[in-house]
Amino acid sequence: MSIFDECGHEQVVFCHDPDSGLRAVIAIHSTALGPALGGTRFHPYATEAEAVTDVLHLSEGMAYKNAIAGLDYGGGKAVIWGDPDTDKSETLLRAYGRFVETLGGRYVTACDVGTHVADMDTVARETRHVTGRSPDAGGGGDPSGLTAFGVFQAMRAAAAHRWGTEDLTGRTVGVAGLGKVGRHLLPHLTEAGADIVAADVSETARSWAAEHFPAARLVADTDELIAAGIHIYAPCALGGALNERSLRVLDAEIVCGSANNQLADPGVAADLDRAGILYCPDYVVNSGGVIQVAEEYAGPFDFKRAERRTAQIFDVTARILERAKGEGVTPVAAADAIAEERMAAVGRLQRLRLFR
Ligand code: NAD
Repeated sequence: MSIFDECGHEQVVFCHDPDSGLRAVIAIHSTALGPALGGTRFHPYATEAEAVTDVLHLSEGMAYKNAIAGLDYGGGKAVIWGDPDTDKSETLLRAYGRFVETLGGRYVTACDVGTHVADMDTVARETRHVTGRSPDAGGGGDPSGLTAFGVFQAMRAAAAHRWGTEDLTGRTVGVAGLGKVGRHLLPHLTEAGADIVAADVSETARSWAAEHFPAARLVADTDELIAAGIHIYAPCALGGALNERSLRVLDAEIVCGSANNQLADPGVAADLDRAGILYCPDYVVNSGGVIQVAEEYAGPFDFKRAERRTAQIFDVTARILERAKGEGVTPVAAADAIAEERMAAVGRLQRLRLFR
Protein backbone atom coordinates (compact mmCIF):
# COMPACT_ATOMS: atom_id res chain seq x y z
CA MET A 1 0.00 0.00 0.00
CA SER A 2 1.17 3.53 -0.71
CA ILE A 3 0.52 5.42 2.50
CA PHE A 4 0.61 8.82 0.80
CA ASP A 5 -1.67 7.95 -2.11
CA GLU A 6 -4.18 5.58 -0.61
CA CYS A 7 -4.70 6.01 3.08
CA GLY A 8 -5.83 9.64 3.24
CA HIS A 9 -4.23 10.16 6.67
CA GLU A 10 -2.82 13.42 7.98
CA GLN A 11 0.03 11.84 9.87
CA VAL A 12 1.42 8.40 10.63
CA VAL A 13 4.13 8.08 13.26
CA PHE A 14 6.37 5.08 13.85
CA CYS A 15 7.64 4.84 17.42
CA HIS A 16 10.60 2.64 18.28
CA ASP A 17 12.37 2.11 21.59
CA PRO A 18 14.53 -1.02 21.24
CA ASP A 19 15.43 -1.20 24.95
CA SER A 20 11.84 -1.55 26.13
CA GLY A 21 10.81 -3.44 22.99
CA LEU A 22 8.31 -0.76 21.98
CA ARG A 23 7.24 -0.88 18.35
CA ALA A 24 4.17 1.27 17.89
CA VAL A 25 2.40 3.09 15.09
CA ILE A 26 0.19 6.10 15.76
CA ALA A 27 -2.16 7.06 12.93
CA ILE A 28 -3.96 10.37 12.76
CA HIS A 29 -6.65 10.22 10.11
CA SER A 30 -8.10 13.64 10.66
CA THR A 31 -7.97 16.55 13.07
CA ALA A 32 -10.76 18.42 11.25
CA LEU A 33 -12.99 18.29 14.32
CA GLY A 34 -10.28 18.46 16.98
CA PRO A 35 -7.49 16.31 18.44
CA ALA A 36 -7.48 12.79 17.02
CA LEU A 37 -8.96 10.53 19.71
CA GLY A 38 -8.79 6.74 19.67
CA GLY A 39 -7.48 3.83 21.69
CA THR A 40 -4.23 1.87 21.65
CA ARG A 41 -4.48 -1.72 20.46
CA PHE A 42 -1.76 -4.06 21.79
CA HIS A 43 -1.67 -7.04 19.49
CA PRO A 44 0.82 -9.66 18.22
CA TYR A 45 0.37 -8.92 14.51
CA ALA A 46 1.93 -11.48 12.18
CA THR A 47 3.70 -8.80 10.17
CA GLU A 48 4.55 -5.13 10.27
CA ALA A 49 2.33 -4.58 7.23
CA GLU A 50 -0.62 -6.11 9.08
CA ALA A 51 -0.09 -3.73 12.00
CA VAL A 52 0.05 -0.71 9.69
CA THR A 53 -3.04 -1.77 7.73
CA ASP A 54 -4.97 -2.28 10.96
CA VAL A 55 -4.05 1.07 12.50
CA LEU A 56 -4.97 2.96 9.32
CA HIS A 57 -8.31 1.20 9.10
CA LEU A 58 -9.06 1.74 12.79
CA SER A 59 -8.13 5.42 12.84
CA GLU A 60 -10.34 6.17 9.85
CA GLY A 61 -13.17 4.39 11.68
CA MET A 62 -12.58 6.61 14.72
CA ALA A 63 -12.93 9.75 12.60
CA TYR A 64 -16.43 8.63 11.61
CA LYS A 65 -17.34 7.46 15.11
CA ASN A 66 -16.27 10.70 16.78
CA ALA A 67 -17.98 12.79 14.11
CA ILE A 68 -21.31 10.98 14.33
CA ALA A 69 -21.19 11.11 18.14
CA GLY A 70 -21.07 14.90 17.89
CA LEU A 71 -17.67 15.08 19.58
CA ASP A 72 -15.08 17.77 18.97
CA TYR A 73 -12.46 15.14 18.20
CA GLY A 74 -10.92 13.85 15.05
CA GLY A 75 -10.00 10.25 14.35
CA GLY A 76 -6.84 8.52 15.44
CA LYS A 77 -5.66 5.18 16.70
CA ALA A 78 -2.45 3.48 17.72
CA VAL A 79 -1.17 -0.06 17.69
CA ILE A 80 1.60 -1.54 19.75
CA TRP A 81 3.06 -4.53 17.96
CA GLY A 82 3.59 -7.28 20.53
CA ASP A 83 1.92 -9.75 22.82
CA PRO A 84 0.19 -7.89 25.67
CA ASP A 85 0.54 -10.94 27.94
CA THR A 86 4.31 -11.18 27.63
CA ASP A 87 5.64 -7.92 26.16
CA LYS A 88 3.81 -5.32 28.23
CA SER A 89 5.91 -3.57 30.88
CA GLU A 90 5.98 -0.27 32.74
CA THR A 91 8.96 0.88 30.67
CA LEU A 92 7.33 0.01 27.37
CA LEU A 93 4.09 1.80 28.27
CA ARG A 94 5.97 4.85 29.53
CA ALA A 95 8.12 4.92 26.39
CA TYR A 96 4.89 4.83 24.41
CA GLY A 97 3.48 7.66 26.56
CA ARG A 98 6.51 9.81 25.75
CA PHE A 99 5.92 9.34 22.02
CA VAL A 100 2.25 10.33 22.50
CA GLU A 101 3.45 13.45 24.32
CA THR A 102 5.71 14.42 21.39
CA LEU A 103 2.58 14.93 19.30
CA GLY A 104 1.60 17.79 21.60
CA GLY A 105 -2.07 16.83 21.85
CA ARG A 106 -2.73 16.15 18.17
CA TYR A 107 -3.40 12.56 19.28
CA VAL A 108 -5.19 11.52 22.49
CA THR A 109 -4.93 7.89 23.45
CA ALA A 110 -7.19 5.51 25.42
CA CYS A 111 -7.78 1.76 25.93
CA ASP A 112 -8.54 -0.74 23.22
CA VAL A 113 -8.11 -4.48 22.78
CA GLY A 114 -5.06 -5.53 24.82
CA THR A 115 -4.84 -2.36 26.94
CA HIS A 116 -6.70 -1.56 30.15
CA VAL A 117 -7.36 1.37 32.48
CA ALA A 118 -4.30 0.51 34.60
CA ASP A 119 -2.15 0.75 31.45
CA MET A 120 -3.54 4.22 30.73
CA ASP A 121 -2.61 5.24 34.28
CA THR A 122 0.96 4.20 33.45
CA VAL A 123 0.92 6.00 30.08
CA ALA A 124 -0.39 9.09 31.94
CA ARG A 125 2.87 9.31 33.90
CA GLU A 126 4.51 10.48 30.67
CA THR A 127 1.78 12.33 28.81
CA ARG A 128 -1.27 14.48 29.46
CA HIS A 129 -2.87 13.30 26.26
CA VAL A 130 -4.44 10.13 27.58
CA THR A 131 -7.91 9.23 28.80
CA GLY A 132 -9.73 6.10 29.95
CA ARG A 133 -7.82 6.13 33.25
CA SER A 134 -8.91 4.59 36.55
CA PRO A 135 -11.14 6.50 38.99
CA ASP A 136 -8.22 6.50 41.47
CA ALA A 137 -6.19 8.45 38.92
CA GLY A 138 -9.05 10.86 38.31
CA GLY A 139 -10.44 8.98 35.32
CA GLY A 140 -13.84 7.54 34.52
CA GLY A 141 -12.76 3.89 34.60
CA ASP A 142 -13.94 1.19 32.24
CA PRO A 143 -16.49 2.65 29.78
CA SER A 144 -18.29 -0.66 29.04
CA GLY A 145 -21.30 0.31 31.17
CA LEU A 146 -21.97 3.42 29.08
CA THR A 147 -21.27 1.52 25.89
CA ALA A 148 -24.05 -0.90 26.84
CA PHE A 149 -26.35 1.98 27.80
CA GLY A 150 -25.76 3.44 24.33
CA VAL A 151 -26.54 0.11 22.66
CA PHE A 152 -29.82 0.05 24.56
CA GLN A 153 -30.67 3.60 23.36
CA ALA A 154 -29.94 2.67 19.75
CA MET A 155 -32.07 -0.46 20.12
CA ARG A 156 -35.03 1.55 21.38
CA ALA A 157 -34.69 3.98 18.49
CA ALA A 158 -34.56 1.09 16.01
CA ALA A 159 -37.65 -0.46 17.60
CA ALA A 160 -39.51 2.84 17.29
CA HIS A 161 -38.49 3.07 13.63
CA ARG A 162 -39.45 -0.51 12.88
CA TRP A 163 -42.48 -1.12 15.04
CA GLY A 164 -43.72 2.38 15.84
CA THR A 165 -42.89 2.02 19.53
CA GLU A 166 -39.63 2.04 21.46
CA ASP A 167 -41.20 -0.32 23.98
CA LEU A 168 -39.29 -3.60 24.07
CA THR A 169 -41.80 -5.43 26.28
CA GLY A 170 -42.25 -8.96 25.00
CA ARG A 171 -39.60 -8.58 22.26
CA THR A 172 -36.96 -11.29 22.20
CA VAL A 173 -33.41 -9.96 22.11
CA GLY A 174 -30.48 -12.24 21.29
CA VAL A 175 -27.25 -11.09 22.92
CA ALA A 176 -24.14 -12.73 21.48
CA GLY A 177 -21.23 -12.23 23.87
CA LEU A 178 -21.52 -11.82 27.61
CA GLY A 179 -18.33 -9.90 28.16
CA LYS A 180 -17.95 -6.42 29.58
CA VAL A 181 -20.61 -4.86 27.33
CA GLY A 182 -23.01 -7.82 27.05
CA ARG A 183 -23.19 -8.15 30.82
CA HIS A 184 -24.12 -4.51 31.22
CA LEU A 185 -26.76 -4.78 28.52
CA LEU A 186 -28.77 -7.51 30.24
CA PRO A 187 -30.11 -5.35 33.11
CA HIS A 188 -31.40 -2.72 30.66
CA LEU A 189 -33.18 -5.37 28.62
CA THR A 190 -34.64 -7.01 31.71
CA GLU A 191 -35.89 -3.68 33.02
CA ALA A 192 -37.47 -2.96 29.64
CA GLY A 193 -39.45 -6.22 29.79
CA ALA A 194 -37.64 -7.92 26.91
CA ASP A 195 -37.10 -11.67 26.73
CA ILE A 196 -33.43 -12.54 26.52
CA VAL A 197 -31.59 -15.28 24.69
CA ALA A 198 -27.85 -15.06 25.27
CA ALA A 199 -24.82 -16.88 23.92
CA ASP A 200 -21.20 -17.02 24.90
CA VAL A 201 -18.47 -19.50 24.09
CA SER A 202 -17.24 -19.17 27.65
CA GLU A 203 -18.82 -21.48 30.21
CA THR A 204 -17.88 -18.99 32.95
CA ALA A 205 -19.77 -16.19 31.21
CA ARG A 206 -22.85 -18.39 30.76
CA SER A 207 -22.76 -19.45 34.43
CA TRP A 208 -22.59 -15.79 35.44
CA ALA A 209 -25.68 -15.03 33.34
CA ALA A 210 -27.55 -18.07 34.68
CA GLU A 211 -26.92 -16.87 38.22
CA HIS A 212 -27.77 -13.19 37.69
CA PHE A 213 -30.44 -13.45 34.98
CA PRO A 214 -32.24 -16.74 35.60
CA ALA A 215 -35.03 -15.83 33.17
CA ALA A 216 -32.61 -15.58 30.24
CA ARG A 217 -32.35 -18.54 27.87
CA LEU A 218 -28.68 -19.44 27.46
CA VAL A 219 -27.15 -21.13 24.46
CA ALA A 220 -23.57 -22.11 23.75
CA ASP A 221 -23.08 -20.64 20.32
CA THR A 222 -24.18 -17.83 18.10
CA ASP A 223 -25.50 -20.15 15.35
CA GLU A 224 -28.08 -21.44 17.81
CA LEU A 225 -28.83 -17.92 19.04
CA ILE A 226 -29.64 -16.45 15.64
CA ALA A 227 -31.96 -19.36 14.84
CA ALA A 228 -33.82 -18.99 18.16
CA GLY A 229 -36.69 -16.83 16.87
CA ILE A 230 -35.29 -13.51 18.07
CA HIS A 231 -36.67 -10.09 17.11
CA ILE A 232 -33.43 -8.21 17.74
CA TYR A 233 -29.91 -9.53 17.32
CA ALA A 234 -27.23 -7.82 19.42
CA PRO A 235 -23.71 -8.93 18.39
CA CYS A 236 -21.53 -8.06 21.39
CA ALA A 237 -18.53 -10.34 20.79
CA LEU A 238 -16.10 -10.27 17.89
CA GLY A 239 -16.24 -8.63 14.47
CA GLY A 240 -17.59 -10.27 11.31
CA ALA A 241 -20.81 -11.56 12.93
CA LEU A 242 -22.81 -10.58 9.86
CA ASN A 243 -21.74 -12.61 6.87
CA GLU A 244 -23.19 -14.67 4.05
CA ARG A 245 -23.58 -17.70 6.31
CA SER A 246 -25.23 -15.96 9.28
CA LEU A 247 -27.60 -14.07 6.97
CA ARG A 248 -28.98 -17.35 5.65
CA VAL A 249 -30.20 -18.23 9.15
CA LEU A 250 -30.91 -14.87 10.77
CA ASP A 251 -34.56 -13.91 10.83
CA ALA A 252 -34.34 -11.03 13.35
CA GLU A 253 -35.88 -7.76 12.20
CA ILE A 254 -33.25 -5.55 13.81
CA VAL A 255 -29.49 -5.91 14.33
CA CYS A 256 -28.10 -3.62 17.02
CA GLY A 257 -25.03 -4.57 19.05
CA SER A 258 -21.73 -3.28 20.37
CA ALA A 259 -19.23 -5.35 18.39
CA ASN A 260 -16.87 -3.41 16.16
CA ASN A 261 -16.75 -4.26 12.44
CA GLN A 262 -19.86 -6.44 12.45
CA LEU A 263 -20.10 -6.54 8.66
CA ALA A 264 -17.77 -9.22 7.26
CA ASP A 265 -17.48 -7.00 4.18
CA PRO A 266 -19.12 -3.70 3.18
CA GLY A 267 -21.52 -5.47 0.77
CA VAL A 268 -23.29 -7.13 3.71
CA ALA A 269 -25.03 -3.80 4.49
CA ALA A 270 -26.96 -4.07 1.21
CA ASP A 271 -27.63 -7.79 1.79
CA LEU A 272 -29.22 -6.95 5.16
CA ASP A 273 -31.33 -4.26 3.52
CA ARG A 274 -32.54 -6.65 0.84
CA ALA A 275 -33.43 -9.20 3.54
CA GLY A 276 -35.55 -6.54 5.27
CA ILE A 277 -33.31 -6.49 8.34
CA LEU A 278 -32.76 -3.07 9.92
CA TYR A 279 -29.06 -2.77 10.66
CA CYS A 280 -27.92 -0.08 13.10
CA PRO A 281 -24.33 0.84 12.15
CA ASP A 282 -21.93 -0.52 14.76
CA TYR A 283 -19.86 2.62 15.13
CA VAL A 284 -22.97 4.62 16.00
CA VAL A 285 -24.38 2.02 18.39
CA ASN A 286 -21.15 1.54 20.35
CA SER A 287 -20.13 5.20 20.64
CA GLY A 288 -21.01 5.37 24.37
CA GLY A 289 -17.47 4.25 25.21
CA VAL A 290 -15.76 7.05 23.30
CA ILE A 291 -18.27 9.56 24.65
CA GLN A 292 -17.19 8.59 28.18
CA VAL A 293 -13.46 8.92 27.47
CA ALA A 294 -14.00 12.23 25.64
CA GLU A 295 -15.88 13.55 28.68
CA GLU A 296 -13.04 12.39 30.90
CA TYR A 297 -10.41 14.13 28.77
CA ALA A 298 -12.38 17.40 28.86
CA GLY A 299 -12.55 16.88 32.64
CA PRO A 300 -13.40 16.86 35.44
CA PHE A 301 -15.20 13.60 34.75
CA ASP A 302 -18.91 13.72 35.51
CA PHE A 303 -20.62 10.38 34.95
CA LYS A 304 -24.12 11.86 34.80
CA ARG A 305 -23.09 14.29 32.08
CA ALA A 306 -21.47 11.45 30.10
CA GLU A 307 -24.64 9.42 30.52
CA ARG A 308 -26.81 12.28 29.24
CA ARG A 309 -24.60 12.61 26.17
CA THR A 310 -24.74 8.87 25.59
CA ALA A 311 -28.54 8.97 25.78
CA GLN A 312 -28.41 11.09 22.61
CA ILE A 313 -27.49 7.93 20.69
CA PHE A 314 -31.27 7.42 20.56
CA ASP A 315 -31.75 10.59 18.48
CA VAL A 316 -28.68 10.02 16.36
CA THR A 317 -29.82 6.51 15.45
CA ALA A 318 -33.36 7.71 14.72
CA ARG A 319 -32.00 10.41 12.41
CA ILE A 320 -29.79 7.94 10.52
CA LEU A 321 -32.61 5.44 10.04
CA GLU A 322 -34.99 8.17 8.85
CA ARG A 323 -32.46 9.50 6.37
CA ALA A 324 -31.72 6.00 5.07
CA LYS A 325 -35.42 5.40 4.53
CA GLY A 326 -35.98 8.79 2.92
CA GLU A 327 -33.05 8.45 0.53
CA GLY A 328 -33.45 4.74 -0.15
CA VAL A 329 -29.92 3.97 1.03
CA THR A 330 -28.57 1.64 3.71
CA PRO A 331 -28.23 2.94 7.28
CA VAL A 332 -24.44 2.60 6.90
CA ALA A 333 -24.47 4.88 3.85
CA ALA A 334 -26.68 7.38 5.70
CA ALA A 335 -24.44 7.37 8.79
CA ASP A 336 -21.27 7.77 6.71
CA ALA A 337 -22.82 10.69 4.85
CA ILE A 338 -23.85 12.47 8.07
CA ALA A 339 -20.38 11.98 9.56
CA GLU A 340 -18.66 13.22 6.37
CA GLU A 341 -20.93 16.26 6.18
CA ARG A 342 -20.12 17.19 9.78
CA MET A 343 -16.37 16.73 9.26
CA ALA A 344 -16.50 18.94 6.16
CA ALA A 345 -18.83 21.63 7.55
CA VAL A 346 -17.29 22.00 11.01
CA GLY A 347 -13.78 21.38 9.67
CA ARG A 348 -14.20 24.31 7.28
CA LEU A 349 -14.60 26.63 10.28
CA GLN A 350 -10.86 26.34 10.88
CA ARG A 351 -10.29 28.84 8.07
CA LEU A 352 -11.90 31.46 10.37
CA ARG A 353 -8.73 32.23 12.27
CA LEU A 354 -8.95 32.87 15.98
CA PHE A 355 -6.49 35.34 17.44
CA ARG A 356 -6.23 34.44 21.12
P1 NAD B 1 -15.08 -8.77 26.04
O1 NAD B 1 -13.81 -9.36 25.54
O2 NAD B 1 -15.18 -8.34 27.46
O3 NAD B 1 -16.31 -9.77 25.77
C1 NAD B 1 -16.48 -10.51 24.61
C2 NAD B 1 -17.27 -11.77 24.99
O4 NAD B 1 -17.60 -12.46 23.79
C3 NAD B 1 -16.49 -12.76 25.86
O5 NAD B 1 -17.26 -13.15 26.97
C4 NAD B 1 -16.23 -13.94 24.92
O6 NAD B 1 -16.21 -15.19 25.61
C5 NAD B 1 -17.42 -13.84 24.00
N1 NAD B 1 -17.24 -14.48 22.70
C6 NAD B 1 -16.12 -14.54 21.95
N2 NAD B 1 -16.37 -15.21 20.79
C7 NAD B 1 -17.68 -15.53 20.82
C8 NAD B 1 -18.54 -16.21 19.91
N3 NAD B 1 -18.09 -16.68 18.75
N4 NAD B 1 -19.82 -16.40 20.27
C9 NAD B 1 -20.29 -15.93 21.47
N5 NAD B 1 -19.53 -15.27 22.36
C10 NAD B 1 -18.23 -15.09 22.04
O7 NAD B 1 -15.38 -7.54 25.05
P2 NAD B 1 -16.33 -6.28 25.33
O8 NAD B 1 -15.53 -5.18 25.92
O9 NAD B 1 -17.59 -6.74 25.97
O10 NAD B 1 -16.62 -5.83 23.83
C11 NAD B 1 -17.51 -6.54 23.00
C12 NAD B 1 -17.47 -5.94 21.60
O11 NAD B 1 -17.87 -4.56 21.67
C13 NAD B 1 -16.09 -5.93 20.95
O12 NAD B 1 -16.24 -6.12 19.56
C14 NAD B 1 -15.56 -4.54 21.24
O13 NAD B 1 -14.61 -4.13 20.27
C15 NAD B 1 -16.84 -3.73 21.12
N6 NAD B 1 -16.79 -2.46 21.88
C16 NAD B 1 -16.60 -2.48 23.22
C17 NAD B 1 -16.57 -1.28 23.92
C18 NAD B 1 -16.39 -1.25 25.41
O14 NAD B 1 -16.64 -0.19 26.02
N7 NAD B 1 -16.02 -2.34 26.05
C19 NAD B 1 -16.73 -0.05 23.25
C20 NAD B 1 -16.95 -0.07 21.87
C21 NAD B 1 -16.96 -1.30 21.19
